[in-house]
Amino acid sequence: MKFELTILGNTSPFPSKGRLPTSQILNINERLYLIDCGEGTQIRMNELGIKRMKIDHIFISHLHGDHYYGLFGLLGSYRVSRRTQPLHIHCPEGLKELIEFEAKISYAGEFMFPLHFHTTNAKKAEKILDNKDLEVSTIPLRHGEIPTTGFLFREKTGERKMIKSKIKEYNIPFQKIPAIKKGGFFKLPNGKVIKNTELTLAPPPAKTYAFCSDTAYFTGLIPFIKNVDLLYHEATFNAEDGVDAGKKGHSSTLEAAKIAKKGKVKKLIIGHFSTRYRDLEALADESRTIFENTEVAEEKKTFVIA
Ligand SMILES: [Zn+2]
Ligand SMILES: [Zn+2]
Repeated sequence: MKFELTILGNTSPFPSKGRLPTSQILNINERLYLIDCGEGTQIRMNELGIKRMKIDHIFISHLHGDHYYGLFGLLGSYRVSRRTQPLHIHCPEGLKELIEFEAKISYAGEFMFPLHFHTTNAKKAEKILDNKDLEVSTIPLRHGEIPTTGFLFREKTGERKMIKSKIKEYNIPFQKIPAIKKGGFFKLPNGKVIKNTELTLAPPPAKTYAFCSDTAYFTGLIPFIKNVDLLYHEATFNAEDGVDAGKKGHSSTLEAAKIAKKGKVKKLIIGHFSTRYRDLEALADESRTIFENTEVAEEKKTFVIA
């Protein structure tokens, strides 16, 4: 199943030359999930040919403007282009009122499509989405006073794979195969039972992506991101400037790397870089001194989880 992350924006706290605030698109089996929606999200999607109508779920980590100012424009586009399919926004308390207020003062009237707000709880991890392709849970983060969550995306693994040669060997009727793929056994005409493990192979392991938006370094995060295929962790500051990043509710390059190492993740991507930094590879190099498989969450780049 396709599981690809495209970075739309990686800067903070405002757009800078050629760079945009936080926004990402996760493509799972050709369904698009928008994660944060900083200013310029639509413009970047247009540049990359990403179709906004393919988004049915939007996840907003917290209500600092660099993570949701793009939402007003996106919702306006849906309105003008006469979207009809439902849209779900998973977000902290308060955003619903803000969107409704904007609709009121602009005399835009009701949205013509069902718009569902799902309030996240920054105090504890909760499952917030469960569909045929994936499960999404929140990750409580520490970002000063403001309620902030990350999101953990876990692919549904699907059914076991039938070993084709066994169908012929045991003369298994076609109509028995769906039950065997779900874990069932097969009984031969002589009564002998063939165990499922002889007939099928386990599905590939579930692919996972953890998005940790703005947060101070804290080891309580580790159980939530343990062993994920891909971890995005903010690294607002370099090592030198980030000595006291936690006091500002943020992390340094070294702190992001420490979380990745302790969580035994497969790959770390860092982002949410302060506009003061132009050499982003130098930031990744700092992280690599602790966690080698680090990459910059480079804008317009797609990370494929195979
Ligand atoms: Zn923030
Ligand atoms: Zn931010």
